Amino acid sequence: MLVVLVRFIFLSFFFLSAGNILGKNKKPASKEKVIVVGAGIAGLVAAKDLLDHGYDVEVWEANPLRVGGRLFSVKVAGSIAELGGEDLLDGGDANYLIQYANQLGIKVNVDPNPYYDIHFFGQDKKTVRNLDLFVEEKFPFDDSIDERTVDAMIEKAMSAKPMVTMADFLQAFFAKQPKLLEYFDARTQTNEGVSTKEIDASYAKSSFRSQLWSNIKTVRATSMKKKPIALSNTRFIGGNASLPLALAKVLGKRIRMGVKLDKIQVTKDGSYRLVPTRGRLVKAKYVVLAIPASMYKYINVEEGLYKQWQQIVSSNVMARSGKVLVPLTWNKEPIGVAQSLSFVARLNQDRKVAALYFTNLESKDTSAMLDIARDHSSFLEQVFPATKVELGGKFETPVEQFAACKEGCVKNWSEEQFTEGAYSIIPPGKEMLLEDNIEYVCEQPILQLFSPYKNTLFFAGEHTSHDARGTIIGAFESGIRAAKMLENCSRPTAAL
Ligand SMILES: Cc1cc2nc3c(=O)[nH]c(=O)nc-3n(C[C@H](O)[C@H](O)[C@H](O)COP(=O)(O)OP(=O)(O)OC[C@H]3O[C@@H](n4cnc5c(N)ncnc54)[C@H](O)[C@@H]3O)c2cc1C
Repeated sequence: MLVVLVRFIFLSFFFLSAGNILGKNKKPASKEKVIVVGAGIAGLVAAKDLLDHGYDVEVWEANPLRVGGRLFSVKVAGSIAELGGEDLLDGGDANYLIQYANQLGIKVNVDPNPYYDIHFFGQDKKTVRNLDLFVEEKFPFDDSIDERTVDAMIEKAMSAKPMVTMADFLQAFFAKQPKLLEYFDARTQTNEGVSTKEIDASYAKSSFRSQLWSNIKTVRATSMKKKPIALSNTRFIGGNASLPLALAKVLGKRIRMGVKLDKIQVTKDGSYRLVPTRGRLVKAKYVVLAIPASMYKYINVEEGLYKQWQQIVSSNVMARSGKVLVPLTWNKEPIGVAQSLSFVARLNQDRKVAALYFTNLESKDTSAMLDIARDHSSFLEQVFPATKVELGGKFETPVEQFAACKEGCVKNWSEEQFTEGAYSIIPPGKEMLLEDNIEYVCEQPILQLFSPYKNTLFFAGEHTSHDARGTIIGAFESGIRAAKMLENCSRPTAAL
């Protein structure tokens, strides 16, 4: 129940302040300088909120070509697909995010492709299973088990001493539906690149909770033929990058592209001197750091900040996932695309583009990913004979920047210069730092590790999220939270 409670507390804050977020209830301009570092979803929502509240905001984005970071929508053979974050519901309920996007004129899709999520597993190339087959086989799920009950069961298993293993939990949970257990395992393998056994071995509490929760939900939605919104694949129409692009449009020239933070110095008057790799340095009273945890190690910081910095760096590892997007023509029936445990194929809305998800890549080499794809699928070669990387398209204005991938796109996020991985994962042994140590700073709940430095330097980004780390929702909420915290901390009465 703790998770539910904590999430409720977090969301209550966001909802209570929704008027502010949407540009209403503005406070008088404070004109105080805030540098937001990173123009991913976390940084951009923070910057917009601060701008709406009268701060003098400047955003630094290391990438010279595009905003959005790990939200990266592209056009492949005329249809829009995601090279980065895809399913808005991965971190749980996305109502607030969707409501926020709606206010900016961005709608969410409500008609997902029934064949969207196709999982291929087993060594036999003829073995093709998709969600529809699972539905057709009509595996009943006990409808009397509602979400609250599932939550309570997970919490009970986690608090038992010793904690119940995930394998044991699943055996009991799916006792009457062994096929669903099989599907659960396959989904975890393909989506996360780890087996249930491996999760048990590392025994991170957060993995236990998040793996069970997200995967059980999908399995249930499948078996219960729930409305499509409950199924995986809820994206913004026009691509998930529509949201960062809309925010960038509002922020306009306040975004400085190609400006990479190199050094943070604290000045005598307590403000910050931020030094970019190239270009002019800037002095600011407040800083919101919204870069991936993997990038902290490249920034030179003052001694006082160093210890917290090091702890944050050591409490994260990045998932090595990549995507290959390929245009293909849909033949009504699912076709055997691949048979590897290491990837999952997804079709997009208009059934044109398949995204092949690779997890736990051994190689950092982009061309090696294509080799794996070819190795695993003769079918791929038929539909996609010439694969090439084409992620160009200069970012002239922060408005239009979809890269066109005429024949397909490859994105190996481990190779991405400003991210070095797909999303953060808590390494075994670091769970305690990142779970349940919540405190309140300037009226906002925050994990202790990400408490602001001197109430003037704030941390945002998916890795700072308590219960939705590694997700779009987690990043979004972290940006709102950082902005609210800064606004509260900078009130004349706020205690420092
Ligand atoms: C392949 C893939 C699939 C995913 N699938 C899903 C999914 O289905 N559902 C889901 O919820 N989530 C998914 N995610 C995760 C989700 O996309 C991320 O959690 C989220 O987009 C992170 O946002 P952010 O703002 O925290 O970080 P980012 O988007 O990484 O933004 C950080 C920004 O900081 C910039 N930067 C870095 N260093 C510096 C510096 N020194 N100075 C200035 N700027 C800097 C970067 O260029 C970047 O633009 C996926 C991610 C990937 C890669």
